[in-house]
This record gives sequence, structure tokens and C-alpha cells, in this order.
Amino acid sequence: SASQIGLMGLGTMGSALALNIAEKGYDIAVWNRTTAKTKDFVVEAGDLASRITPCESLEAFVNAIERPRTIILMVPAGAPVDQQIADLEPYLAPDDLIIDAGNANFNDTTRRMRDVKFPFLGVGVSGGEEGARHGPSIMVGGAKENWERVAPILKAIAAKHEGEPCADWMGEAGAGHFVKTVHNGIEYADMQLIAEVYGIMRDGLGLGASEIGDVFDRWNEGVLQSYLIEISGKVAHTEDAASGGPLLDIIEDAAGQKGTGRWTAIEAQHLASIVPVIEAAVAARNMSARRGQRRDLQDVFGAAPQGVDSASIPLDKLEAALICGKILCYSQGFDMIATAFAQNGWDDNLPGIAKVWREGCIIRSGMLDDMATALAEQPGRSLMASPLFADRLKATEGALRHVVVTAMAKGLPIPALSSALAYFDTMRTARGTANMIQGQRDFFGLHGFKRLDDGSENQHGPWASN
Ligand code: NDP
Repeated sequence: SASQIGLMGLGTMGSALALNIAEKGYDIAVWNRTTAKTKDFVVEAGDLASRITPCESLEAFVNAIERPRTIILMVPAGAPVDQQIADLEPYLAPDDLIIDAGNANFNDTTRRMRDVKFPFLGVGVSGGEEGARHGPSIMVGGAKENWERVAPILKAIAAKHEGEPCADWMGEAGAGHFVKTVHNGIEYADMQLIAEVYGIMRDGLGLGASEIGDVFDRWNEGVLQSYLIEISGKVAHTEDAASGGPLLDIIEDAAGQKGTGRWTAIEAQHLASIVPVIEAAVAARNMSARRGQRRDLQDVFGAAPQGVDSASIPLDKLEAALICGKILCYSQGFDMIATAFAQNGWDDNLPGIAKVWREGCIIRSGMLDDMATALAEQPGRSLMASPLFADRLKATEGALRHVVVTAMAKGLPIPALSSALAYFDTMRTARGTANMIQGQRDFFGLHGFKRLDDGSENQHGPWASN
């Protein structure tokens, strides 16, 4: 019998997704550029092989799928996606639906939505191989009626939060891939905040890796409960088989990146949206990669003093500081999505986004559940201003300030924590300092300013006549 869906690209993600789909009771046709991989895949599928139709040619693949067809592409983002669509085209009918489930740049997705001659969805899938196999978080962009065609299958394979699937329609065009991009930006920021707090414990408080692991384990029982805190605890506790010491201590301190966090920062600049914690996290990864330069500069300037009296940063204050930083960075991410959706004229479904992130993806956490509730209660208002999170910020802001001040006085580098605090202080200051900037701009370029007293626009200072 015909397969209900087809999938192209049996790499890490594609094969895991195909097995997930088969396991949920769907018949699936699969095709891979390298045919040997298709054959191996079916052998390794075991009991699920009966639901899988392996295809060696594109024509056989397309013919194996029931009409109107649904075809998932799981190939590297960029040119391979365009190539696959072009190769498929001759075999497809006008109402066949193509789903790009790779990590596309959302601008490419928006372009394809316009140019591809078939119904098209751009879908962000998060959760790595494990997620793809057993339940990812799925962020769908494109025409809503196309989402509705595949909603049952995508909901079936998605992660569940108390029975509710973490798969939803995010908005028109590139909205799904955009939301995935911001997810990754938040992921970078969340990881960086955790790494900085780790640094304070290691270099400031002098704790060993396994003691730090215990702290993360404890925090994972509270407000900070999240996948990232959980795995940080596990990483810190892991022993190196070769040396018998903590593995963490021999891992090189240079972070890799595939670039999706950077996309968030770049896009934020285009949108004039404010994500300094994410930007700090991207910059911190770049700084981490400059190991030679850091060694060199340590020779020039010496290491910062670093050690702090353990009483001066109690662990509960550190926990509160991390909670505060995390709320601020998520608030920035949601604001960025709201800004982008407004500029693109896409409906925004912020609570829906928080819901989709509750399980399956890397940033899944207990706090996202509260965020979904808070965002639903006050549409159009920043997460920071919602009653629940405003209360949490009020309760933790002092701890963040204390940790930032203490760490900075000792030269412990905390670019993300400190930018979170600077963001908070800037955004809750009604009378800022840009009046000076406007004065300067008018002085050198006659750009004009607005007067606060009578509201008149495009005014100039007396320097204009000089
Ligand atoms: P892999 O490298 O494991 O697999 C890539 C697959 O794409 C292979 O099946 C490969 O076929 C095929 N492929 C590569 N180039 C072409 C091409 N030019 N034309 C046709 N097929 C091609 O990648 P992943 O499974 O890790 O990633 C797939 C997508 O999913 C990417 O967009 C990635 O960013 C995204 N993603 C990955 C995650 C992860 O954790 N790995 C998480 C979320 C998204 P062949 O066997 O012939 O080489």
C-alpha cells in the first residue's frame, strides 16, 4: 500500500525522524542520496521495517507516497535543499507538500515559500538525534492550511508536555525557522549564563567539578529545573577514564558553533530588537575560541585576582542571580520574536511558542511552563512585566547585582550576567541619557532633537548658528 509520507535524507536527524514516524504507526517511504545508507537503514530499523518503503530512485520514492503527497526534506541547510526541491519537481503534482525540516535560515525559507511551485512548510526541529527519535519540539512556519494537512502526524511524533504535543504552527512564511533560530540564540545565552556561574564557582569559590555538579543537581530540583542544568550537573560529575579525574577539567575551553546563535544576533540587529544577553553569549563563544590570544594577553596583563571569599557569594545568591539572568534573556528572546512577527505581519503566538519549547528541545525547562502562562495572560506585554516574572525579578535582581559586582571586582569574566543586569537597569530607567547623544548629534550634524517641555520636534541648539 502507498506510504502516508516520504522522507529524504537519512542522516542523523532524518533516520531518527523516520523511525519515530514509523513507530507512531505511519507508513513511510524513504530515499537517500547514497543508496547504501537507505539499505542499511531498513536493516537497522528492525520491527519498524515493515512500515518503511526504501526507495532507490526519486521516481520510485515519489510514486510510493499517497496523494496529495507530503515529503519531508532532512538534508543540510542551504544549497542541498534547493537542489533536492529542483530534483523532485518533475515528479510532483501541484498539491504535493514539501517540508524543509532542516536548520534553514528563515530568510531562505521565506524566499522558498514564494518561489517553490508547491505547497511548502519550513519546520524547525529541536532536540538533536534523541529528540528526533523519541519526540522533538516542532516549530512550523508557512500557510496555516498546509500545517493543518500535517498537524496530526507532526503532533504524533512530537514531544509531549502533560499529553499536549510540543508541535505547533508559529506563523506564516519563515516563522517556524525564525522561532527555531531564536530558540538557538536563547540556548547559547542560557548555556553561557550557566558557564559563567560555573566559572564563579570554579575560579571564585574554588569548588571542584564534582562539588559543582552537586550544586547543579540541587538547583535542578528548584526553579532552575531544566535540561541544560541537568546535563551541566552530569557533565561536571563525569570522570575521565584515562586520568580518573574530572572530565570537565581536561575539556578544552574553546566553544564550537554551527552559527544559528550568531544568526539570532545578526537578525536582532536588522530588526533593531534588543538581545544583549544573546549577543554577549555569541561574543563569548568567539572569545573562547581565541585561546592563543587569551594566553598571550594573560602574559601581558597577568591573570585577574579572581578568588573570592566563599561567604561573599553564597550559593543561594548565585542561584538567584542565574534565575534573574535567565528570565531577562528569555524575555529578550520573546520580545525579538514579537518584533519580527510584527514587522513581517505574521500573527504572533508567543504563548504557543513557549508551550512548544516546554519539552523536546534543548532549552526545555519548568520555567517555560510558567512563561507560557504569563505570556497568555498579558498579550503584547514583555515577559519581564508579567506579574509572575516581575515578582521573580524583584526577588532576584539584588542577587544578580551582588554577584555581578562581586565577580567583576575580582576580574571574573561574566559578559552575559553583566549584560543582563545592564539591560535590566537600562530598561527600568524612565529618564535615560540619550539626551546627551541627541545633543551631540545635533551639534555635529544638525540632526535635531525633540524638546521634553513643549514636545516640539526637530529643534536645534544655539550651536546651530555657529
Ligand atoms: P547528516 O550530515 O547526518 O546527514 C545529512 C543527510 O543529507 C545525509 O542523508 C546526506 O546524504 C544528505 N545530503 C547531504 N548533502 C546532500 C545533497 N547535496 N543532496 C542531497 N542529500 C544530501 O545531517 P543531520 O541529519 O545532522 O542534519 C540534517 C539537517 O537537520 C540539517 O539542516 C541540520 O542542521 C538539521 N538539524 C540537525 C540537528 C542535529 O542535532 N544533528 C538538530 C536539528 C536540526 P548522503 O548519505 O548521501 O551523504
